[in-house]
Amino acid sequence: MFIGIDDTDSTEGMCTTYLAPILYEELRECGGILVELPYLVRLNPNIPYKTRGNAAICLKVSLSPENGGKERVEERVMRCVESLAVFSDPRTNPGIVFVDEPDEDAVEDLKNFSKAALHRIVEIDEARNLIKEHNFDAREYKNGRGIIGALSAIGIALDLKEKDHTYELIAYRRRENIGKKRRIDEGSVFYADRITYPKTWDTVDLTNGRIVLAPSGKDPVLYGIRGDDIDEIFKASNLIESEPIWGKTLFMTNQGTDGHLTRVSIKEMEEYGSYIVKGTVSKVPVAMEGGHLFFEISDDSKSVRCSAFEPTKQFRNIIRKLKIGDEVDVYGGFKKDTMNLEKINIKKLNDLVSRNPICPICGKRMKSAGRDQGFRCKRCKTEIKEREIDKVDRGLKEGLYEVPPSARRHISKPLIRMNEEKRHPSR
Ligand code: ATP
Repeated sequence: MFIGIDDTDSTEGMCTTYLAPILYEELRECGGILVELPYLVRLNPNIPYKTRGNAAICLKVSLSPENGGKERVEERVMRCVESLAVFSDPRTNPGIVFVDEPDEDAVEDLKNFSKAALHRIVEIDEARNLIKEHNFDAREYKNGRGIIGALSAIGIALDLKEKDHTYELIAYRRRENIGKKRRIDEGSVFYADRITYPKTWDTVDLTNGRIVLAPSGKDPVLYGIRGDDIDEIFKASNLIESEPIWGKTLFMTNQGTDGHLTRVSIKEMEEYGSYIVKGTVSKVPVAMEGGHLFFEISDDSKSVRCSAFEPTKQFRNIIRKLKIGDEVDVYGGFKKDTMNLEKINIKKLNDLVSRNPICPICGKRMKSAGRDQGFRCKRCKTEIKEREIDKVDRGLKEGLYEVPPSARRHISKPLIRMNEEKRHPSR
């Protein structure tokens, strides 16, 4: 049976992932044995309802009928969610879905539903209809929005093993420390990163001199180590010196996969969607108050404003150098008619400039001889018809660029995980 859970946390505490180690123990007592790693899934990072990173979890358990089977397991899950979810927060609307041995149709529908939740806004009724159609057991609390993430977590977990996936090892805090300042030895984190990168990634932001593996709120997470290689992830974790921890849980995740992005044309983009779009720079970058940069790209049919906000730090140094005519693919989320950049692929730099020609006799730049009359050298009286086309050094290389780890979305694929030849990972 698959158990999907979402929306139990608030900025004032809790983290939905915390339910995984708690339920691991709780369910064992009633015959529900975890048969795969717990899944931590990230959904569309643009949606307005999220607390932080739009995460949900899914557990796959085997049931033992002697111990009460399905009913007891379901009851225990609900009891855990009810005792841990932050119901006082108006934005916390938990949802739980149980899917027992889904048939082919149910599998197909669950996968399609989770695809939608990765790419766009999904309505609660779409989730309710799916639950009703397939007779899934589900539990809604408050406005019930959590069932969207709960269903999607199951839909993604169904075949994540066969798709691009990564891992995260989360270290949880002891109860007495939750809410207090986190004690993590930063030097040990930089060392752990040096030893295990690139098999682990997004542990530190070297350029900005920050560790990025720890959240800052009152939730029970001390830190999380992400990567592609389980042994290296554990190695990194064992190198980190910190306050005593309560326990560690390894998740299989869709983090770092770009699972949220679809390739569309500019006119196909919809509010809150996440996309890759192709275009040509049509307005040069302009800096706004606060250090945010805005520019525009266009394709055959439409133009769109693109942004690189202040937290994207050194990524803006690349954006600042864009010029009209550069051919790019932009990756990011579309909100308020603006594409917020996560990555950019500079495919073809417009590195040609047209200038008045140089006089072949005296070497001086020639002057226009009037409209459509070519160019003339005042001194030597030489005449040349055509402008000169020169190649300039733009101080910028073609290829893929990304925001730094400190500004990275959980689901964004770090360039270090990509095979592209022309890439410039930010670290
Ligand atoms: P954390 O990262 O700390 O776990 P969070 O950012 O995951 O917090 P949630 O508390 O899970 O935030 O809130 C996200 C809410 O949005 C959930 O109720 C979830 O069901 C819902 N949701 C997720 N994806 C979509 C979507 N594509 N469309 C509409 N609602 C969604």
